[in-house]
Amino acid sequence: METKRVIVRGVVQGVGFRPFVYLKARENGLAGMVKNNPQGVEILVQGRHEGIVSLVNAIRNYPPPRAVVEEVSVSQFDTDKIWDSFSITESDQTGTRNARIASDSAICENCLEELFQKDNRRYYYPYINCTHCGPRFTIIKDIPYDRASTTMAGWTMCGPCADEYHDPSNRRFHAQPNACFECGPHMHLSERNGNLIVSGKTSIRMQELIIQTANILREGKIVAIKGLGGFHLAVNALDDQAVIRLRERKNREKKPFALMVGDLNALQNIAVAGVQEQNRLACAERPIILLEKRENSPVADVVAPDNNNLGVMLPYTPLQFLLFETINFPLVMTSGNINDEPIAFTDKNALDRLADIADFFILGDREIHTRIDDSVMRLWNGADYPIRRARGFVPAPINLKKKQPANILALGPELKNTICLSHDGVAYMSHHIGDLKNRETADSLYHAISHFTKIYGIKPDIIAHDMHPLYESTQAAFDPPPSLSWMNRLPKIAVQHHHAHIVSCMAEHGLEESVLGVALDGTGYGTDNTIWGGEILVAKHAGFSRGASLKKVKMPGADAAVRFPKRMSLSYLWEIFGENVREHIPAAMSDMVTPEEVDMTLYQIFAGMNSPMTSSAGRLFDAVSAFSGICGESKFEAQAAIMLEHAAEKDEKGSYHFDLCQGREQG
Ligand SMILES: [Zn+2]
Ligand SMILES: [Zn+2]
Repeated sequence: METKRVIVRGVVQGVGFRPFVYLKARENGLAGMVKNNPQGVEILVQGRHEGIVSLVNAIRNYPPPRAVVEEVSVSQFDTDKIWDSFSITESDQTGTRNARIASDSAICENCLEELFQKDNRRYYYPYINCTHCGPRFTIIKDIPYDRASTTMAGWTMCGPCADEYHDPSNRRFHAQPNACFECGPHMHLSERNGNLIVSGKTSIRMQELIIQTANILREGKIVAIKGLGGFHLAVNALDDQAVIRLRERKNREKKPFALMVGDLNALQNIAVAGVQEQNRLACAERPIILLEKRENSPVADVVAPDNNNLGVMLPYTPLQFLLFETINFPLVMTSGNINDEPIAFTDKNALDRLADIADFFILGDREIHTRIDDSVMRLWNGADYPIRRARGFVPAPINLKKKQPANILALGPELKNTICLSHDGVAYMSHHIGDLKNRETADSLYHAISHFTKIYGIKPDIIAHDMHPLYESTQAAFDPPPSLSWMNRLPKIAVQHHHAHIVSCMAEHGLEESVLGVALDGTGYGTDNTIWGGEILVAKHAGFSRGASLKKVKMPGADAAVRFPKRMSLSYLWEIFGENVREHIPAAMSDMVTPEEVDMTLYQIFAGMNSPMTSSAGRLFDAVSAFSGICGESKFEAQAAIMLEHAAEKDEKGSYHFDLCQGREQG
């Protein structure tokens, strides 16, 4: 007989790992104990050598579905103690923390079956979950992952729920959000002023809630619905007028909305999805996948105007499944916010901010601690290309090849901000926080900094920030709010925007040597204080030289040139034709600009008034989009480039000639 200590690291908490170890140990006739600790899971196991080998093999090769085993270390454990059985013991909270936190997951098959079983005590219960599914990252306030450190702390389990929770053979064993109608949180349908219509406190009341909500949606009304990471605004996607109303109220003129369809069958006449797309749509992370629109699709054109793609997802919360059991049309499911503000995530916040948009609300008692948007990705050659990495994928870490000598807190850029915290050879990238231009998003950034440093127990040694002096994230580095005053003491390092892009890519692919990195981007502050964006850098992790870049042109009106791609067209034409520019304005563009506008813009360029130089690739796309008569004014970020992409013929193989010029650096 021998006794071993086994330490398992990875995503091993909150995913049914201890019951799995318990069952495997019993199967192999082993005694001992298993517990969570801040590093992961610790097992002391006693018994025959073959039994222990078999247990370790099962941990390495057949862990529970949502677990990610990164490292298993086995060592001799000297003790006189003889265990007579195997048990699961309380979490140990001492020591450095690097246990991985699981991400949020779609409801599993077993829970889904129970949700629709008439004689099940969770029939129609919208918070049904188990160790294989449900919320994690969004409800965690601290680690180790125990109920007391989640937003479920306030609910005490009833007898039957507690029995499941304490039964190692049950899939709800230590399922921290475990609950039922009797003892747990409920969902409620309310008017926009907060007046309750139906409170879903029992199966019957929940059925009423679903039927009423379905009727409301059928009438073309807008409903704000609480999900895993925040509120969605839902409306019938087949109803033009309803979608237009949502656009008006949300102050979102053109930017595409995402859709939710009941199942893959319902997708058939809406969008094209091959086997790989279908698999990704149905995975536990349930991202929004960009798919090609079907011609003659019944979906309202205003859902994604001037766009060949539709962003589509499948239901992932119990409530969404209940709704789609009753309705037979797709829903627009867009983030519950006004324009570019962050998504509303508390009931009060939603009622305050969304009352002018939504006609009705489905509120929920279980609080969301960290708001998180839906993830968005497209597939290319079968591989994932994340566009927004958020719900379902965060906080899975990126393993770095080398351990860094210091813990780094990187604060990210201004648009589509994320932060990153690195420690001990691992980089924890946050969810998509958003565009920092508004106050609420900046607050989200501060929450993310304190939350990530807390849950991972990481004390940063260095702060890395974007080189742009005016970015909100840069200002946060030098002038943090009082709650983050520790940031004041840390050394700061400015990082060039495109160098950061390229090194991120290197880290993702484990590249250590120098690379020739190509960053084709909109805007990033350069080392020469001009705006870069189409850059070829000879880069290594710690530095770079600028190998080449797109030719610099003026941005007449600075930010106005971003909003009005036609200005960039005139700037490029000026570069080429100089004084004769007016004769060369393409006919396709003539409807976009008045002669006065042309004069004014050219004067700005000529006089160099508020016209910074840029080598941006985004601005080049803008210029071509306007030349071609496609988009002269962008209503949302990158609209001109997106429309240009959709106008391009798919099998076009031609290319334009261009010159590489030596050292003609200007501006
Ligand atoms: Zn489940
Ligand atoms: Zn209960």
